[in-house]
Amino acid sequence: MANSITSILDEETLPSKLVIPATLLVAVILMVMYGFELTYTRNKIIILSLIGALVTLSVLYLFPKKWIFKSRALYLIIFHLVLSSILIFVVPVHSALLYMWAPLIFMSDYYYQSLGLYLSSVSLLIVLILSDWHQKSQITKSSALGILFELIIIVTASLIISKLAFGNRKERKELDSQYVQAEYEHDRLLSLINTMSDAVIATDETGKITTYNAAALDLLNTNKTLVDTPIDKVMKLTTGSGEEVSLSKLAIKTPFLQRRTDICLPIGDDDNINLDISISRIAPSMLKEEQQGFTFLFRDITERKSLDEERDLFISEVSHELRTPITISEGDMSMAVLLADKKTPNIGEIKNSIKKAHEQVVYLGDMVNDLSALSRAQLENKSMEVTTFNISEVIDELMQTYRPQAESKGLYFKTELTSNIAQLTTSKLYFKEIMQNFITNAIKYTQKGGIIVKAQSVDKDNVLISVTDTGAGIARSEQNKVYQKFWRSEDPYTRSTSGTGLGLYITAKLAQRIGGYLMLDSEIKKGSTFSVVIPLKAFKQVDQGSVTKNEVAHLFS
Ligand code: ADP
Repeated sequence: MANSITSILDEETLPSKLVIPATLLVAVILMVMYGFELTYTRNKIIILSLIGALVTLSVLYLFPKKWIFKSRALYLIIFHLVLSSILIFVVPVHSALLYMWAPLIFMSDYYYQSLGLYLSSVSLLIVLILSDWHQKSQITKSSALGILFELIIIVTASLIISKLAFGNRKERKELDSQYVQAEYEHDRLLSLINTMSDAVIATDETGKITTYNAAALDLLNTNKTLVDTPIDKVMKLTTGSGEEVSLSKLAIKTPFLQRRTDICLPIGDDDNINLDISISRIAPSMLKEEQQGFTFLFRDITERKSLDEERDLFISEVSHELRTPITISEGDMSMAVLLADKKTPNIGEIKNSIKKAHEQVVYLGDMVNDLSALSRAQLENKSMEVTTFNISEVIDELMQTYRPQAESKGLYFKTELTSNIAQLTTSKLYFKEIMQNFITNAIKYTQKGGIIVKAQSVDKDNVLISVTDTGAGIARSEQNKVYQKFWRSEDPYTRSTSGTGLGLYITAKLAQRIGGYLMLDSEIKKGSTFSVVIPLKAFKQVDQGSVTKNEVAHLFS
């Protein structure tokens, strides 16, 4: 009963299920009393207007709230006034209608606690005194006792009803506010996990899904509801070696928290998402066993894994590449020491060993320079200085620098630039570095003939600059390897020249950074053409404010 009364009273306004019957009941009683001539006054107008007021109040209650203003306090005041008028002016003192005041005290107490109880009881006392005074023109000792007695009876009766219906109101209010707080916390947590970029799934003890967030749907690429579905059914996971993994079995073995980074979620034929999975047990002691369960947190670490793998591979390649020159130079230096220790040292042999060791040290220097250039080029977040410049100016500068080297090998070195070529707005440093790599390679890998540098527009937004040589050329089967790090052709002539195999790898990265790409056209023993296609305004969008001047000025120094 308590619950049903509570749910009625918890309406926003005064409950219509109580207001309408009670108002009509009072109206009917008034009519009956009037009919049987039981009322104190026979004034038809007063009685009919009060009956009319009661009926109107109950009819108004049938209208939806948005049409009629139904303030709880206002209605309570109106009811107190109407009943007071009836008790003072219409019905005789101490009539049975007096007991209709009990529900008024009861509701005032429910909605406005002690203040409501106090105001309603005091109003009753005043009404009792006034009705006695009005109808008997005096208050005797016995009628004062009668008033007190009736007041006590009515207030006590309404308090007893209230206690029976709701128990301890204070406790109930506390429970109510705790419930509201818990609901609020629950909603807050739900919206929090929904904003997480990591997928979260909670299951019960048997592995059936109870809660999940938007990222979980995203990871599983579904929009179906997952509640009550076994987690192993929606997440078919495997280890790196292809063995199946059951999350619910893993969870049961989890004492408190478990983390796995070796599990993947297969997607499509040959593709996997590498996951970092944290499993934790929800087992507060106050929960029953069937209420306990697990939470799973999934993070996609595919990209990080492949970066880690690439980095490990790179370190192993670099250490391998460094080991050879170090071993050779160490051998040559030991040989030089041995030769110097001889009784009659041969200066020529010693010089030769030191020269060979020196070559290897120079090579190591080149390698270290290339590696540091590479690491700077890979720091993609670094801003670069963007300027507008003439392509021909840069090429002329490079011609002057490298012509002596080409001519010393007996090679011609020419340029063919179209006159209307537009200006470039990009990193001059990167552009120069790309051209420098093409030109030095062309000179290095060409024995006879020469080199031509060309520049031409591709379309209104892009320009193509190429370096053509008549050198060793690169076999068709090897052409796709030239941009790989440390790759050098097996060709004996190439092997007789010094080189790290990093130049074109870096060149490709730089071209990519300024929004361009490389092309190669080559025929073995006939020559090669290395080209770069660059957008004329590669950095139109760059926020000049974020560009650090001279940030990369020393990049390849
Ligand atoms: P490096 O020149 O230091 O060896 P690169 O990355 O610049 O490194 O070049 C990689 C390889 O590509 C060279 O070792 C060479 O075999 C080949 N290569 C590059 N440019 C040319 C060219 N112009 N003609 C022939 N082969 C070339």
